[in-house]
Parts: sequence; structure tokens; C-alpha cells
Amino acid sequence: MSTIQQVICDQCGKLKGEANHWKYLYIAGGDFSSTCIPDSAYYDFCGEACLLKRISELIAEPPAVRECSLEGDEHFPNLH
Ligand SMILES: [Zn+2]
Repeated sequence: MSTIQQVICDQCGKLKGEANHWKYLYIAGGDFSSTCIPDSAYYDFCGEACLLKRISELIAEPPAVRECSLEGDEHFPNLH
């Protein structure tokens, strides 16, 4: 018995094909990376366009979970 696991793009909903160059994104809190972050959420994207679109959305509106332990604003001089 075998199961075909269908993967769809988390941005546009496109179904994954065999020859597509899919991109992956890992999100943990406000951090995101194309390589694995432990205990992170995981997303599939059909291509760079969808990946970059999601990243730009994350930058514009970060996830609600914010546990920043940095004190002071010197690390992010451009945020204000
Ligand atoms: Zn897509």
C-alpha cells in the first residue's frame, strides 16, 4: 500500500508537481529561514515568487508571537 502525499503551495495553493523547483520556509516566532529551525512551522512554496511574497508579508506584519529579550533599541536602529 502506498499513499500519494499531495503538497500544495502555502501561498497560492498550486499543486506540487514532480519537476517543480519548490522552496521551503521555516518560521519560529519572528524568525524565518530557508533551512530548518528546531520547533518551527514549515511551509512549502511553488517557487521563489511565492516564497518572497510570504517573506515580504512576514516583514510587513510579523507573527503575533513576540518574545524579544533584547534590551534597548540599538540592535534595530531602523525600526522606529
Ligand atoms: Zn505558489
